[in-house]
Amino acid sequence: MDKVENSMLIVGGGIGGLAAALACAQKGAKPLLLERATQFSEVGAGIQMGPNVTRTLFSWGLEKALNEFTFVPQSLQVRDAVSGQTLGTLTLGQRSLEKYGAPYVTVHRADLHHVLLQKVLNDGLAELKLQSQVDSLQEIHDGISVQVRDIQTGQIEAIKSPAMVGADGLWSDTRNYVLTNTPPRVTGLVAYRALLPMRLLPEALRQQDVMVWVGSRMHAVLYPVRGGEFLNMVVIAPGQLPESLKDWDHDANQEELFEALGVLHPHLKDVLEAVPAWRRWPICDRPPLVSASQMAKGRIALLGDAAHPMRPFLAQGAGMAIEDAAALAVCWAQVDLPLNARWQLYAQMRWARNARVQARSIRNGRIFHMQGPMRWGRDLAMRLMGESLMDVPWLYAGP
Ligand SMILES: Cc1cc2nc3c(=O)[nH]c(=O)nc-3n(C[C@H](O)[C@H](O)[C@H](O)COP(=O)(O)OP(=O)(O)OC[C@H]3O[C@@H](n4cnc5c(N)ncnc54)[C@H](O)[C@@H]3O)c2cc1C
Repeated sequence: MDKVENSMLIVGGGIGGLAAALACAQKGAKPLLLERATQFSEVGAGIQMGPNVTRTLFSWGLEKALNEFTFVPQSLQVRDAVSGQTLGTLTLGQRSLEKYGAPYVTVHRADLHHVLLQKVLNDGLAELKLQSQVDSLQEIHDGISVQVRDIQTGQIEAIKSPAMVGADGLWSDTRNYVLTNTPPRVTGLVAYRALLPMRLLPEALRQQDVMVWVGSRMHAVLYPVRGGEFLNMVVIAPGQLPESLKDWDHDANQEELFEALGVLHPHLKDVLEAVPAWRRWPICDRPPLVSASQMAKGRIALLGDAAHPMRPFLAQGAGMAIEDAAALAVCWAQVDLPLNARWQLYAQMRWARNARVQARSIRNGRIFHMQGPMRWGRDLAMRLMGESLMDVPWLYAGP
């Protein structure tokens, strides 16, 4: 294949876009990645990555680089947010390695983004263009032509390529060219997020595991990141939405947060009260995918949140973007097939698994926020079958 046939446009330089650039370049593609931000960075805080995700990242040669930044929790514990009782425990650590062949880790999302970016740069895998916003695109007879606007100068440039990947996140515009686009769904839930140096907490409140505190219409997920030096906290509760949903990353009002949480066990209350400032982030998603046609059309493939934004209650949104990237690369390498057939293959490989993860995330949210007798039933089931309820072999052993 010549250089032009090899080229590929990737719109968006988040975790999904960078992963796609890396994976496809390792299969011989020459990606040009367009990111509208003026610098590569990741907002937000920590993420969890199951063995399905670390296995994929390690297969790209990232194990050593990631190990510098990740934290390996020994267990995931679910506790009642009011009584403090432990409802169930899923052993991680060595068990994840033995059962799934890869670790369950936590990582600051900026560190994961940095590791992907450094690999792309150091190995010369892709051309990266910042402050380049894709405004529109059209299919031409032998490819895609995109209108790219320099967000600082306003200058417009047309770029052509035989293949395009829309990795432009929750508010994706590239979706418009694959299916009839509608805005993401507003769930009415807000994520309050904070990162606190572990040393600022008294010894008794420090933790080495993933803790999920479930209450009535709220839950909190706390885990160490950055080698255990920071505690990452996400509290999910019903909340008021900012005026512009796209303008999501707001300082949170502490009073509003604690009002939404109600009565809390003293341990949880003390940890949350140690946080000087919270950011809030409205949770949006889309209904689970129903067919492959929602992930690719012609020469355009969608990946990550652009295709299947999900509620964060299974902690797999970035994970699925990374799995998408691996599948995309495998399909891209089927060079005997025309490009549209390769992207169809990709969509066929990915849509059902993504849909299943989206659906399971919604279900987890319902379970976490149960009230009244349902909550009692949930707690009993967790106590009786904790580990088997919390383990997700079809997910962690895949893709
Ligand atoms: C509270 C919370 C907790 C979470 N926890 C986890 C977790 O534990 N584990 C996990 O795996 N996932 C988790 N997630 C989900 C995860 O953060 C996302 O699924 C993931 O970051 C999506 O990556 P992406 O690359 O698809 O999209 P994004 O990160 O949104 O990247 C899209 C990029 O495209 C760029 N862009 C947009 N439009 C254009 C354009 N027109 N032209 C050029 N560039 C453009 C944007 O600037 C951006 O850089 C969580 C999410 C939330 C909200």
